[in-house]
Amino acid sequence: MILGVLRALRTPRNCFARLQQARETSSRTSWVRAMTETGEKAVYDLSFEELEEILSRWGEARYRARQIWEWLYSSLVTDFQQMSNLPGVLRARLAETYRFSPLQQVTEIVSNNRWTRKSLFLLPDHQTIETVLMLYKKRRTLCISSQVGCGMGCPFCATGLSGFTRNLSVGEIVAQVIHYARWLAVPAPADERVPIERPTRVTNVVFMGMGEPMANYERVWQAIRILTDRRGFGLGARHITVSTVGIVPGILHMAEEPLQVRLAISLHAAEDELRDTLVPINRRYPLRELMNAVRHYVQRTGRRVTFEYALMRGINDQPRHARALVRLLAGLPAHVNLIPINPVEGAPFQPSTRRETVRFARLLEEADVPVTVRLRRGLDINAGCGQLRRHVLEKLTP
Ligand code: SAH
Ligand code: SF4
Repeated sequence: MILGVLRALRTPRNCFARLQQARETSSRTSWVRAMTETGEKAVYDLSFEELEEILSRWGEARYRARQIWEWLYSSLVTDFQQMSNLPGVLRARLAETYRFSPLQQVTEIVSNNRWTRKSLFLLPDHQTIETVLMLYKKRRTLCISSQVGCGMGCPFCATGLSGFTRNLSVGEIVAQVIHYARWLAVPAPADERVPIERPTRVTNVVFMGMGEPMANYERVWQAIRILTDRRGFGLGARHITVSTVGIVPGILHMAEEPLQVRLAISLHAAEDELRDTLVPINRRYPLRELMNAVRHYVQRTGRRVTFEYALMRGINDQPRHARALVRLLAGLPAHVNLIPINPVEGAPFQPSTRRETVRFARLLEEADVPVTVRLRRGLDINAGCGQLRRHVLEKLTP
């Protein structure tokens, strides 16, 4: 059934039509009616403690919170009616008070090799965000968004080029994970051509979709607390990575968090002059300050930090750039991910050649800096951060 819908949605034209249709008819659809007529909050916005408090205000027994939590995060049900061990009155009251999921899938596209799937979701206020599921032999990694757009303005990034619209709510962050957790939990139809066994679970979550997670810190962390809660979804904190463009106060804050979430820094240049142009926030938090914060984080947590470095032809991929990177990372427990840049329409950045990529990686290896060349997933489905949304929105704008 899911695959049938997907096939129908695969062509971009269907995808634009669906978004347009969803927007035009939204006031008539039951989904939006449910959202506007019930409370603004989604059930995925609630922490366990908030849920307990609400239920106690309603005069319900304490154990109901646990039951609801299990329905939401272990059984992964899709509406309140499925919570079959709750009294009907409570189910109805929950449904009157909370909307269920704040996400409506507009389209999902699947890469040709079927290892990558990407969804465009419509939010209650008609904004859109992207979520990508990447399947590997041993991992099922979700790349999720933390904001609609992004205000950091990195000129090579599709999300950055679209500007900032708003922060995502806790529920909008959590629901992205739940959406694909559900898909993974369903046994695969006999004719499915997906290279993994289902049912299975999400193994990793990375905040590398749209937005800067440190600029929506509290909600991102509240979502992380919900996703790692052992009474429900129970994802290991070490399997979550927060990727930041280098917001120093966020990094310092994260150093004090009890959960062992991983930190990735989007570096892209190891000298201020170049980084100022590629990552404009560098003017506010220059490399010296950034690296001091990273060192503090490492001292406090004992954890290794990942540095993302997107190789752009002729811009940051020369031997002198590699040497600057080696100097910058000296003495730090670091890992460098070299990413061939995904070209974005309207931006002049092109991926480095294979030869230059290999040469760059080798210079790091020779200096004992651990490095991997990370192939961008799903190039055929605009899998770069924010690219599908940009593509769809451009087609919709006259
Ligand atoms: N805002 C955060 C997280 C989202 S971006 C951050 O910047 O870290 C996730 C990653 O995708 C970042 O490392 C970012 O630099 C990278 N990225 C953005 N646009 C890209 C592109 N066109 N090609 C390759 N990587 C890109
Ligand atoms: Fe924002 Fe990250 Fe894109 Fe920069 S790379 S504009 S910080 S999403």
